[in-house]
Amino acid sequence: MMRQYELVERVKSYDPSADEDALNRAYVFSMQAHGTQLRESGDSYFSHPVEVAGILSDKKLDCDSIVTGLLHDTVEDTVATIEDIHRLFGPDVAKLVDGVTKLSQIELQSDQTKQAENFRKLLLAMSEDIRVLLVKLADRLHNMRTLHHLGKVERRRRIGRETMEIYAPLAERIGIRDWKDELEDLAFVELNLDGRLSIINRLDFLRNRGGDLVSHVMTELGGTLNGSGLEAAISGREKTPYAIWRKMQRKNIGFEQLSDIMAFRVVVGSVEQCYQALGVIHARYRMIPGRFKDFISIPKPNGYESLHSSVIGPENQRIEIQIRTSDMHEVAELGVAAHWSYKQGVQTDGKQYRWLRELLEILDHADAPEEFLEHTKLEMFSDQVFCFSPKGDLQALPSGATPIDFAYAVHTEIGNTCVGAKINGRIAPLRTELNNGDQVEILTSKTQNPSPVWEGFVATGKARACIRRYVRSQQRQEYIILGREIAEKAFRQSGHAFRIKSIKDSLKQFAMTDIDDLFFDVGRGQLSGFDVLSAVFPEMKSDARPSLAPTPSRNGDKVDHAIPIKGLIPGMALHYAGCCHPIPGDRIVGIVVTGKGVTIHTIDCETLENYTDTPERWLDVAWDLETGGIQVGRIRIMITNEPGSLANLTMVIGRNEGNISNLKVIDRSSDFFELLVDIEVTDVKQLNNIIAGLRATPEVNSVDRDHH
Ligand code: MN
Repeated sequence: MMRQYELVERVKSYDPSADEDALNRAYVFSMQAHGTQLRESGDSYFSHPVEVAGILSDKKLDCDSIVTGLLHDTVEDTVATIEDIHRLFGPDVAKLVDGVTKLSQIELQSDQTKQAENFRKLLLAMSEDIRVLLVKLADRLHNMRTLHHLGKVERRRRIGRETMEIYAPLAERIGIRDWKDELEDLAFVELNLDGRLSIINRLDFLRNRGGDLVSHVMTELGGTLNGSGLEAAISGREKTPYAIWRKMQRKNIGFEQLSDIMAFRVVVGSVEQCYQALGVIHARYRMIPGRFKDFISIPKPNGYESLHSSVIGPENQRIEIQIRTSDMHEVAELGVAAHWSYKQGVQTDGKQYRWLRELLEILDHADAPEEFLEHTKLEMFSDQVFCFSPKGDLQALPSGATPIDFAYAVHTEIGNTCVGAKINGRIAPLRTELNNGDQVEILTSKTQNPSPVWEGFVATGKARACIRRYVRSQQRQEYIILGREIAEKAFRQSGHAFRIKSIKDSLKQFAMTDIDDLFFDVGRGQLSGFDVLSAVFPEMKSDARPSLAPTPSRNGDKVDHAIPIKGLIPGMALHYAGCCHPIPGDRIVGIVVTGKGVTIHTIDCETLENYTDTPERWLDVAWDLETGGIQVGRIRIMITNEPGSLANLTMVIGRNEGNISNLKVIDRSSDFFELLVDIEVTDVKQLNNIIAGLRATPEVNSVDRDHH
């Protein structure tokens, strides 16, 4: 394990201005916080954060990153709090540690990686500062290096798969090539040990046959280039077993042909020299057709420049060669910006690209790596939120999305039958905006339908389209049913027979071909029942308009010819009046409102007086008590002003399973309170039970339905 002074010296060696005191304090703080904790290997836990800090110092990261590496597990795994970190190490480090802790918590949520792409985006979105991601990757790298200490094969394989699908690609994306290679290869050990061993055996065979091939080839390449008067720095490496294995899979080649195992880099002084070097190499060795790529003439979208080629090189070995200037090399090697989206296809017009350009500009102008890192914020996914299903499936949604969006993203049917949602295990309103990493559980009911209200708080096009489609078709259906009832009533009251055929014959007068269109307009109140009647019986036109005023039966149980409110959804063709709060079982009457359908009032509602001059708008309606549902009834209560009286009142309501949805004090004196209480009930019987119960309560002075 690296000692305290070694780590400090290492950081000081590349950053003399590093805060030595902070490094020392972080080292000691982490050591004390982790105390006697042990890793599964039996090593002290503290060795892990120290190694992570060491990995970060290899990349010459700034002091805050190293301090974060030392502290990264203290909040998650010890009694230390983020407030402690803030107090002792300042807001910047606290923010970084908090970010890494959040990533670690997210990691625990998903035990399957089938949605690796979304998971990668989630991690990027949550790492507001790229240093958070760098620390997380270093953490993963060290955990992978020590993975063999874990006992359970299953767990090792899971971690290996996660590393292969999520962390290695992330390392590649932010351009840290050697972390990516090592992560992949360590994961390869867990996922396909046999495959890896057979490749290592083959490599050994080739090595034994040819000796130290890499240095042979380097020497010969160098000689060739020097002989042509070119000064070049050459480096070479063997590809990792995993890289070779993947190439074998992709190109479907066998072991025998497996000779393309080395890659070399030639760094020269100028762009002209790049092409000269290429010419010399191609003249000397046979190039492999189809492998030459000129990323100097056409740089990659991420700014990467180089010449790539493959040749049958020295010792008859197929080798890959990259040729570039030292400036190009610096861009390619500096990490983060380099290899961004390498081989992953970049959206050249997307936000990602703009972010990248900014990043490269900073890179061009930044003097110090700290400045570079400070300006590097991962913003490209800030317009998205990523949420989990209880099973760990991930959904990417636009920011501002609500559980309704989530439900529709899972499946249209789930959206259509959504009744509620749990966010992180707790019931939450459907209009709640989701946050990154939320776990969302959608509660459904077969009897539920999309509500027109939902449209006001969804963020995805899919949810909006589904809601609209449903509402529109439903609304039209309801207007048609209602319109037909209204027309039938007009015929009945004028003593004429209601015949569909004769109405169809008169459709021309309305410039219509579909009788449903006619009923739709009547239902909406655009046409009246009398308009239909007079189209079929033109002689009606000259007559005085018959009074269609209702003769509402005062007997609420049996209303002749009343239109049943059956399955009609409030808010579409049907609305409940806010003045009288009708509830199922009340005697009711409908008022046709032009363009809006029907509004239901209780028969004794005072508002109805406004409509006495327009009897044609009155409609006999009746509850269909089978359908049930919840309505809000409003009662006016006078109670004595004394301790406990309000408690008794709510107890009576609760005992009768009424749910108070609103409570308002409208008057108070020293002796009495006057309250308006809205109660959710299923029918008038339940409300009457509540009223009876309240009247029997000593503190209640008076209680009545409120129809005003
Ligand atoms: Mn860790």
